[in-house]
Amino acid sequence: AQPPAQQPSGSMKPAHVRHVVAVASGKGGVGKSTVAVNLAAAMALLGRRVGLLDADVYGPSVPRMTGVDAEPEMTANKKLKPLEAWGLKVMSIGFLVDEAAPMIWRGPMASSALNQMLNDVAWGSEAEPLDILVIDMPPGTGDIQLTLAQRVALSGAVVVSTPQEVALIDVRRGVSMFEKTRVPILGVIENMAFFPDPVTGAPIPIFGHGGARSTAEALGAPFLGEIPIEVALREACDAGAPLVAQGGDSAAARAFLAIAGTV
Ligand code: ADP
Repeated sequence: AQPPAQQPSGSMKPAHVRHVVAVASGKGGVGKSTVAVNLAAAMALLGRRVGLLDADVYGPSVPRMTGVDAEPEMTANKKLKPLEAWGLKVMSIGFLVDEAAPMIWRGPMASSALNQMLNDVAWGSEAEPLDILVIDMPPGTGDIQLTLAQRVALSGAVVVSTPQEVALIDVRRGVSMFEKTRVPILGVIENMAFFPDPVTGAPIPIFGHGGARSTAEALGAPFLGEIPIEVALREACDAGAPLVAQGGDSAAARAFLAIAGTV
């Protein structure tokens, strides 16, 4: 018999979690973690119960971006307790191992660590289930990402890209990986879409502009919005205090809140 052309999305879902949403990117450095952290914090601000799983096993940046880093405690029934920050339940491979260690992992080790973070963590309870678990995926479309997309019952995926063609080629690859595993594409976000001129406010297209929107349209995927380049956003990431959670008024913060309201 011929194998099916498409493999169904996976069935593995952590207990007491309503929806699992993956934040992915075709390549590193486009701001995937920045988007995952701020989207999760924005969803929490909108009143949802949100978890953030840092699955970027080769370069976990959620501890730095949320400002929490400690060894998680165990619950009575031997599950790991996620750390709490900015209204989020947070778990990162960075909490569990030495900072330099994950870099040398082979695929199966990385996959088993991801399984543990999905299934052996007390994300929600009977009384307080999570509405959404946001997964900050490892960048790219390699084995680990594919395994995760195949095994985990993802409600959908958000793909982050900069406007440049080099990043957009990888967006197509990312969208196609999720389509093959029948994970719905919630949409594409263009990060670093422009830099507002400090004097006039006019958008300066440092990495080009509009590429992610047109790529999304060409792929038949929704376009979720644009995040500008903002010094405050970068500073907030480095300081461990997500920009949206600081309550200030900035174009990037408004964009995250608007997107969080639609996904
Ligand atoms: P990725 O997860 O795709 O590797 P990161 O989220 O770690 O990328 O972002 C890479 C760097 O770029 C970080 O230092 C982050 O603070 C910065 N950055 C990301 N998006 C923006 C933005 N819109 N404006 C300013 N800095 C940004």
